[in-house]
Amino acid sequence: ISRFEGVTMAPPDPILGVSEAFRADTNDMKLNLGVGAYRTEELQPYVLNVVKKAENLMLEKGDNKEYLPIEGLAAFNKVTAELLLGADNAVIRQGRIATVQGLSGTGSLRLAAAFIQRYFPDAKVLISSPTWGNHKNIFNDARVPWSEYRYYDPRTVGLDFDGMVADIKAAPDGSFILLHGCAHNPTGIDPTPEQWEKIADVIQEKNHIPFFDVAYQGFASGSLDEDASSVRLFVARGMELLVAQSYSKNLGLYAERIGAINVVCSSSDAATRVKSQLKRIARPMYSNPPVHGARIVANVVGDATLFNEWKEEMELMAGRIKTVRQRLFDNLSQKDKSGKDWSFVLKQIGMFSYTGLNKSQSDNMTNKWHIYMTKDGRISLAGLSLAKCEYLAEAIIDSFH
Ligand code: PLP
Repeated sequence: ISRFEGVTMAPPDPILGVSEAFRADTNDMKLNLGVGAYRTEELQPYVLNVVKKAENLMLEKGDNKEYLPIEGLAAFNKVTAELLLGADNAVIRQGRIATVQGLSGTGSLRLAAAFIQRYFPDAKVLISSPTWGNHKNIFNDARVPWSEYRYYDPRTVGLDFDGMVADIKAAPDGSFILLHGCAHNPTGIDPTPEQWEKIADVIQEKNHIPFFDVAYQGFASGSLDEDASSVRLFVARGMELLVAQSYSKNLGLYAERIGAINVVCSSSDAATRVKSQLKRIARPMYSNPPVHGARIVANVVGDATLFNEWKEEMELMAGRIKTVRQRLFDNLSQKDKSGKDWSFVLKQIGMFSYTGLNKSQSDNMTNKWHIYMTKDGRISLAGLSLAKCEYLAEAIIDSFH
């Protein structure tokens, strides 16, 4: 008899579990649109050329494997804040930003959640409905209370802007409002610049603290600056805020676990204190972060030639997704005789499309068509090729009717 008899079986992860089921399927037509990872037109994983170049440089230099400081690689922390806010941003010049290297987006969010739990024990976090599934896990495990604000309107397959604003208004003053900087996951629906201004108005009115999750900078529009415009708009208003960053998607560094948590403060003194506490939380959890991904980012962003090459490669990746999105829309519109309006597919942005398929329809996609996706109706267009668009369109139409 095991001492672990009391340990029950955990349910499979709703996103990563999809890949496990996909691997077990032997059908030739199978398609994995579950996980948000970029694939080539041949549906192969892609290592960016700039990443290979940066790694070669690192090898030539013979960088050592000494421990990093708790807050991570200084050169990385510098460039990651600059990439987010723009190198000439006053916040950086005035030393009002606390940046700590994190274990990619997830680890950075988790660090911030622990910080909130410690210093704002009475505050709650508002997250969008729906949101990336792991957000709830992160705040649950950090014992930070959360509730949802309306975001998605199933009637329009668009943004429920009035509901969103009303719910942010109704939240207790001084709440943390979690916002997706761009390419909202899972819906692919972002507020317009005008809507962002109104969201900022309400958040300021209510003395809330914005908490941005930026996992797709550059991947939504193809432009790093444009995709950071939501965050920069809030920063330009002089607001204090948190930003978690990830390089999983835009540099394809999924397994390197490289990202950062940034806290923009109203004084450099506050930033220094906040940073010291973030380090204090990190030390007993994982001591210090891994160096490899941090060096890659520092080399790519810190070198003008590599930086420009990165931008070109990112445009290519974002461009491929846009082409696939268009092809899927064309196939859906041509093949569907029901008169359904599919234009929402084109309005969405980023890696994902939220199809509006419900759970049993999503089950039909998998059971009958061998198309693997999350049960909320989200498909990753980054895992789709032009060649497979027709097949996917047929499956979606069949599953709806
Ligand atoms: N936040 C959002 C909205 C995401 O979609 C993801 C990845 O799917 C992440 C954060 C974090 O990913 P990672 O921990 O790989 O950086």
